[in-house]
Amino acid sequence: MAVRAERDRAARKPPRKAKDKGQELREEISKAAALHVFTRLGVTDPADIDLDAIAAELNAEIRFEDLEGATARVIQIGDRARIIISTRVVDVGAIRFSIAHEIGHILCKHYVGHTGPTDAVERLCSPLHSGGTTTEREADVFAAELLMPRPLVTSWCAVAPLTFDPVRAISSAFGTSVLASAMRFVELTPERCAVVYTKQGRVQWAKKSPSFTGWIPKRSVAPGSAAFDYFERGSIGESSRIVPGTTWLSSKAERVDAPIYEHATAVPGLGAVFSLLWMPES
Ligand SMILES: [Zn+2]
Repeated sequence: MAVRAERDRAARKPPRKAKDKGQELREEISKAAALHVFTRLGVTDPADIDLDAIAAELNAEIRFEDLEGATARVIQIGDRARIIISTRVVDVGAIRFSIAHEIGHILCKHYVGHTGPTDAVERLCSPLHSGGTTTEREADVFAAELLMPRPLVTSWCAVAPLTFDPVRAISSAFGTSVLASAMRFVELTPERCAVVYTKQGRVQWAKKSPSFTGWIPKRSVAPGSAAFDYFERGSIGESSRIVPGTTWLSSKAERVDAPIYEHATAVPGLGAVFSLLWMPES
């Protein structure tokens, strides 16, 4: 009986692996949708990515309004839509990412439930917010692929990130925020690097490149790091620094004593810092 009960309990458990695979598949579909737009527009230069034109083609009007508790909002009625961006968002890169994120919801048909042709469907969004739902992540994946298409941006990621310079070059060329550019960089680079987002003195999340295998625990930032200096003294310093691997990595990580380059920047208005970490070949 006990064995059967255990088996029944196991059967009732959500199929975690299958769900992860499903999410992976949906994110691949989001990327494919963005790349389809890229191909259709015949984009050969980042300046060709015209969000106003894409929105117009989707019958989507873009407005800027005061939004409470969200960065952006999309309202869809039938085949028409309105994209609203908060007037509190002032960074051009963040505005573009929010518009691209909402275009992702429209193109990937992220409707809430079943609606009739005249029902209004509304969604409040905070793009690149780590606590977002799976649908929000799919819209972020779409936005990153639309604004920084893999065929154009990959060659920009084939450099060692001793500093934020390669990330800032992407930000400048593609009209994206430094944070979104850093996340795209670590996604596509062959280098061992990571973006770590810290707030109120603690690691909130980390995104690692495929070749970066060390575990970055969610814990208080360690003395010696640029992030620590920001929370302790309110300043970071202009240049990158070299810190021991233990500053950021779990003590159980491989090559925990290897030096790591850290270059950090503050996120204005959020009391947060993100650090770009790079672990050179030994
Ligand atoms: Zn969203």
